Amino acid sequence: MLISDIRQRLRALGANPAHESRLLRHWVQNLPLDAGRQPLKGWLPQAVMADLPGLMAELDGLLALRSEHAGGDGMSARLLLGLRDGQTVETVLLPRDGVCVSSQVGCAVGCRFCMTGVDGLIRQVASAEIVAQVVLARRKNPALKKVVFMGMGEPSHNLANVLDAITLLGREGGFAHKQLVFSTVGDERAFDALHAAEVKPALALSLHTSDAAKRADLLPRAPRLSPEALVEAADAYGRASGYPVQYQWTLLDGVNDGPQELDGIVRLLKGRYGLLNMIPFNSADGLPFARPDWERAREIAAELSRRGVLTKLRDSAGQDVEGGCGQLRAREAVGRP
Ligand code: SF4
Repeated sequence: MLISDIRQRLRALGANPAHESRLLRHWVQNLPLDAGRQPLKGWLPQAVMADLPGLMAELDGLLALRSEHAGGDGMSARLLLGLRDGQTVETVLLPRDGVCVSSQVGCAVGCRFCMTGVDGLIRQVASAEIVAQVVLARRKNPALKKVVFMGMGEPSHNLANVLDAITLLGREGGFAHKQLVFSTVGDERAFDALHAAEVKPALALSLHTSDAAKRADLLPRAPRLSPEALVEAADAYGRASGYPVQYQWTLLDGVNDGPQELDGIVRLLKGRYGLLNMIPFNSADGLPFARPDWERAREIAAELSRRGVLTKLRDSAGQDVEGGCGQLRAREAVGRP
């Protein structure tokens, strides 16, 4: 189901834009139907009133919680959610009132350090299914204030659905626009669309290496844009939106943690409007990479900050559920807990 399908359905029953907006707010913010000064009865067209219980039941049925794995920090949890066609996606409740949502089942980019990319793209997640992940997360955490599009899938490969979800979350969802984070491996169409978007999210760019050839190897089906071009485009959007860019770097032992890469990071990012998030790789069965030593990762982050690139090493809190997107789904596929 698309958000536009919900709007069309309401319009066909006689709803006007104010009705639509209030009903969508009710859904996305988990508000009681009678919240607000205007009682619904008598204000909403009768046909809409009559359809509401059915519509809300359909929206509730978009996702079913299949399993929940709490993080060791007590603040995060990874949820495996069933879609109506039997496919599954992962949604992660993050510490500090955030949620990480999935935009695709599988992913075509095929990053060699990611379980989600192993089977390629299976299907797009529809805009209403994306929003439904946020609704479910909000039921679990009513203080939710941040939505990051960093779960399964590459948001720029499902651009229309992701931007529709972002527009709804920013307009009716009660989220500050800078608390919506569009994460991408970098795609010209996505940069263009973000510049034109009505609700402008913050941007996270998955860089992972400063070397173009290595990037083509690690992210085999990402658009062939050089790291320099990617940073240029991201920086331009960051400055236009007013939100610093979050450059993402999955730290792989012996692969992208050497002196050449650190020099490359300084060359690319010093003076840019943004910060570098370093996330030590979370080991996964079958993937040929290792997690670097935490102390070594700390030294790298400290050195980069000293050299003028603000670098945040992601806290280990919750890493057991935050890292390794796609692992839960992969485990379920082979029948392991
Ligand atoms: Fe896709 Fe992201 Fe996994 Fe790469 S890391 S394969 S872009 S989901």
